[in-house]
Amino acid sequence: LAPGTDLLRVDGVTVQFGGVKALDNASIVVPAGSITALIGPNGSGKTTLFNVIDGTYEPAAGDVVLNGKSLAKLDRTGRAFAGIGRTYQLPRLFDSLTVLENVAAVNDRFEPRRLVHSAVSGAEAARATGLLEFVGLGEYVDAAATDLSYGQRKLVELAQLLMLDPAVILLDEPAAGINPTLLQRLAELIRSLNATGRTFVIVEHDMQFVLALADQTTVLAHGKVIASGDPATVSTDPAVLEAYLGD
Ligand code: ADP
Repeated sequence: LAPGTDLLRVDGVTVQFGGVKALDNASIVVPAGSITALIGPNGSGKTTLFNVIDGTYEPAAGDVVLNGKSLAKLDRTGRAFAGIGRTYQLPRLFDSLTVLENVAAVNDRFEPRRLVHSAVSGAEAARATGLLEFVGLGEYVDAAATDLSYGQRKLVELAQLLMLDPAVILLDEPAAGINPTLLQRLAELIRSLNATGRTFVIVEHDMQFVLALADQTTVLAHGKVIASGDPATVSTDPAVLEAYLGD
């Protein structure tokens, strides 16, 4: 896909929990090769939007479109294989597995019962080792997942999603709770993946971190998109400042 072409679109999505509209006719457009910062006060719908994109939630209205094709009929597993890669606020690793197994066994991520050591093929192990080296964790391949720090676990999750060669990478608060050294490494990894054409959407509270990376920013408040555009313009938009003051 040529850089700048719409890679991912969320069209008019509404999600309701009881009386709360977590998302209210929200739309975003993510150009191929871009880094989009998704910001907004607590409870504004950011994580819900990720959950709609990756198929965790089925919206009451609206659609998610990747490469011009609706993802509506695909479940979470289908979307992971269709090109939606995602991390979580709290990294979801299998604590009974080694670091290498966690990455290599990504095909089984959605079916944990199949996760046994022998499920990892030689080719998968080689690819997983390469990705762990890429994220700077080459020396931890045989460590237990539980031996890693919180920040290292986040990098393992990044290596894990790269196994499936995603078109779009959704990062949910990647900077939260990680030390300055890993934070710098993370920024470098995002930049280098982006330089080779990977597209990112990043939910992040650390504005300095995310706005330094982003080409465009979308701001949610009360489930609605209240601003979208280049980070400098959006961060001085009166509606955005007001949304944060009310937080
Ligand atoms: P953010 O990620 O921006 O902090 P969320 O997407 O987590 O916001 O939440 C948006 C709104 O939806 C909040 O009011 C939240 O309480 C509500 N919400 C999110 N998930 C659920 C759920 N599973 N059940 C009920 N309410 C939810």
